[in-house]
Amino acid sequence: MKKLTLLFMTVILMACGADKATTPKIEDFKYSVDKFADIEILRYRVPDFESLSLKQKELIYYLNQAALEGRDILYDQNNNYNLCVRRTLEAVYENYSGDKNSTDFQNMTTYLKRVWMGNGFHHHYSEDKFIPEFSEEFFEDVLKSIDSSKLPLLAGETVDTLIAKLKPVIFDPAVYPKRTNQGDGIDLILTSGNNFYDGVTQAEVENFYNKMKIPNDSTPVSYGLNSKLVKENGLLVEKTYKENGLYGAAISRITDWLEKAAEVAENDKQKDVINTLISFYKTGSLKTYDEYAIKWVGDLASSVDFVNGFTETYGDPLGMKGSWESLVNFKNIEATKRTEIISSNAQWFEDNSPIDPKFKKEKVKGVSAKVITATILAGDCYPATPIGINLPNSNWIRHEYGSKSVTIENITEAYDQASLGNGFAEEFMWSDVERKRAKDFASMTNNLHTDLHECLGHGSGKLLPGVDPDALKSYGSTIEEARADLFGLYYMGDPKIVELGLLPDKEAYKSEYYQYIMNGLMTQLTRIQPGKNIEESHMRNRQLIAKWAFEKGKANNVIEIKKRDGETFVVINDYVKLRTLFGQLLAVIQQIKSTGDYEGGKNIVESYAVKVNPTLHAEVLDRYKKLNLAPYRGFVNPVYTLVKNKDGKVTDVTISYDENYLDQNLRYSKEYSSLPTFN
Ligand code: ZN
Repeated sequence: MKKLTLLFMTVILMACGADKATTPKIEDFKYSVDKFADIEILRYRVPDFESLSLKQKELIYYLNQAALEGRDILYDQNNNYNLCVRRTLEAVYENYSGDKNSTDFQNMTTYLKRVWMGNGFHHHYSEDKFIPEFSEEFFEDVLKSIDSSKLPLLAGETVDTLIAKLKPVIFDPAVYPKRTNQGDGIDLILTSGNNFYDGVTQAEVENFYNKMKIPNDSTPVSYGLNSKLVKENGLLVEKTYKENGLYGAAISRITDWLEKAAEVAENDKQKDVINTLISFYKTGSLKTYDEYAIKWVGDLASSVDFVNGFTETYGDPLGMKGSWESLVNFKNIEATKRTEIISSNAQWFEDNSPIDPKFKKEKVKGVSAKVITATILAGDCYPATPIGINLPNSNWIRHEYGSKSVTIENITEAYDQASLGNGFAEEFMWSDVERKRAKDFASMTNNLHTDLHECLGHGSGKLLPGVDPDALKSYGSTIEEARADLFGLYYMGDPKIVELGLLPDKEAYKSEYYQYIMNGLMTQLTRIQPGKNIEESHMRNRQLIAKWAFEKGKANNVIEIKKRDGETFVVINDYVKLRTLFGQLLAVIQQIKSTGDYEGGKNIVESYAVKVNPTLHAEVLDRYKKLNLAPYRGFVNPVYTLVKNKDGKVTDVTISYDENYLDQNLRYSKEYSSLPTFN
């Protein structure tokens, strides 16, 4: 009898489980959910979420909540007016009683979707301000037509003054034209639209932080990472992001959720990591931040992991201020076997790298790499997201304690699946040989290149003693990305990769080489507007590598630009020599990095990475336009729900995939929006 009941129950449980909690199959999943301007929005699956333990699911739920609470911080960091612009437009969207099908209203909706995508009114990738296609008159009319209590009016402010305040911010191309200015020879701080500094010049900022740096400090904190630098009564003051400081309202919500997460941590080590992060958020102490980073990088046993904080510094032209971001994930055990092979051979890769021996690490420490499944993307990881992450960023911590590197495979799956059969390869690849190789190997080689880039590339090499890690200034990010990419490219063509079982045969790497060069020389130009140069560091790095290899390989005809029916194609004639060129360039780039050679970095970036051939650019844009594809992609997150029984005890966390882009962003703006409109 007993046995029967048990059996019976098992059947029911399984049936229930299969009913509500199985990850949708790839072939049944609709990846693309929205399309506007130059953006396509995708969904991503979270395979195996249902096979996690209840405690792990609960932990993920709280970390996800902590992730979503930081959304407004990034908007404000990106520009002082971003929250005001977003809240005004959302109020109009939800309360307008006129014709929602009118062209003006549709254009306003598109603009609002772009604001969500950019976490502000600058393009997430080009960082240029985008200009709406609805009229100023329409903007005025709709604002006046809705209930003014719905608008983000400050004390004493009227709808008229709000309109007057926002018009130049939204419509005038000359007001905050760029979020982050990387141009050479001008004041990068005064000409950047972001909100990391106020009323200070580049020289003042550099002077302020140079004075703060302790000479010969072997464990420097990340100066300026968690603060805004402003001038008050003629004095420079740092406004620290912390619980009782700038962004305090959002930060205290983040720490509330982190406290809940700490209670259900997988182990004591992870609990300590979370508690140290909470302590950093409460104190704003950068020493505590380093302690947290060291503990975080040392936690390799936990399956659930996260990034939460002021992390990447790409948004600051001087590379100091951290943009807020969060990503929560759990380990993909099967795929992680691949990265474990890579990291257990890290020393072999370092020893055999084609760089000057004096720049090599004698002992590669703690290179840990795993493949993860993202459960939430937030802050600077949402809606646009990276496919790999390598942290922490502090050079000395990386050197002493190593770094953690991840490949986010459920995101690359979404990219790959959404791209199948979209006509791109047919249009831009030279022949069926390249297309066949891409079909057979591209997914595999893309993932492997990301693994090598993140877990070996960024972690390889060392600075010579006494070299300032910020010596390359605005060229630093491009040089660093080039270094990591080249390390990966060089080794992909090494027989060792096949020997280790990381690629199935000796031809596979050619798929990555071809796509990399085609992208760097041509197809990434689809992301650049006519007349513009390349600004973003990853794009600069790709053109740098492709153009340098093209120029240096000319004598041997390694890479050829061919014409067919008036259209331009990239052809690679000698893959073996191309690999040698990657090795040579890696040596050059490593020398620049290791010696802090600012002039060398500037010279190679300005010569190869920035300028665009206008004729080729126009042709690429024209061919791309015919395919009717969006050059950029963003994501919507799944929705997680905590299930409790009548005693308030958590019994499950469910996941659903049906929220669309518009509803998700409107909901986030209601549920996770604790900051004042101006901070
Ligand atoms: Zn990188």
